[in-house]
Amino acid sequence: MQQIAVIGSGTMGNGIAHVFAQYGHHVSLIDINSGSLEKALSTISKNLERQLAKGLIDENTKAQALANITTYTNIEEGVKNAELAVEAASENVELKLNIFRQLDQLCGQDTILATNTSSISITRIAAVTSRPQKVIGMHFMNPVPVMKLVEVIRGYSTSDEVTEKIMSLAGKLDKEPVEVNDYPGFSANRILMPMINEAVYCIFEGVAGVEETDTVMKLGMAHPMGPLQLADFIGLDVCLSILRVLQEGFGNPKYAPCPLLINMVTAGHLGVKSGKGFYDYSHGGKELIVAETFRK
Ligand code: NAD
Repeated sequence: MQQIAVIGSGTMGNGIAHVFAQYGHHVSLIDINSGSLEKALSTISKNLERQLAKGLIDENTKAQALANITTYTNIEEGVKNAELAVEAASENVELKLNIFRQLDQLCGQDTILATNTSSISITRIAAVTSRPQKVIGMHFMNPVPVMKLVEVIRGYSTSDEVTEKIMSLAGKLDKEPVEVNDYPGFSANRILMPMINEAVYCIFEGVAGVEETDTVMKLGMAHPMGPLQLADFIGLDVCLSILRVLQEGFGNPKYAPCPLLINMVTAGHLGVKSGKGFYDYSHGGKELIVAETFRK
């Protein structure tokens, strides 16, 4: 695909634009916030520099990738001629439905509309467009340039042809695409969030401490990061909201979020982004220090 539009230039949007541009696609990176676009370009440049320093790419690829990205605050200009639009705007249902109504109006008939949503139904998003067979989930993982997985989510009406095109495109970005169907949490979060929730329950019930729980999963199951550290990294508010999606979507009490997780989010202890979660990040270093609340 020659021309790809990425809508939203935050944490995920800048990574998605980076990867497409690195593999030779022309990318229109679109955001309503021009400050976010400036920050995205600077992040992409720094991340390309890091790949260069590690010998993963050469100077020419770096320069070409940067040259492949054009930024827009106007969606109409940005999506012109796009063969694929990948939406990576904030995780808010109404916002996404509005963006898809707009994309459906502005993009050519053949344009595939993809979303990077972590938890919103692809089928619901597709239903506000006149082309549900061309709407699909393309769920990249954070940080996008590093993580291999792309969860490719088929909505109820997504066609085989569109699924095959997106699977093949993701493979050409040196990613491992995995095809899944559209049910709450898809596959990645359906499995991950109950594990994180159970780890929080272990703390809540005094089964083990924060470090002990993470050590069990790191050393016992060969996870690179314990579930509580991972929850801090994802954001405890994001974990809570995905658990709510699972709870509502399946109506099964096994997905009920742990009261401790709810309390932490209410108190503003959201993990890395707020400076404190299960661990304390206020010292600014890389060392993992258990938050005061959880020290014995
Ligand atoms: P973010 O808050 O970092 O960035 C969102 C960006 O969207 C902001 O720059 C904002 O200005 C922009 N935006 C808001 N409304 C817009 C509009 N109408 N048009 C264009 N841009 C608009 O969010 P993020 O963490 O990058 O998440 C983006 C999406 O990716 C969400 O759907 C999220 O669920 C999903 N996701 C996030 C992660 C993660 O680890 N952060 C992982 C996988 C998927």
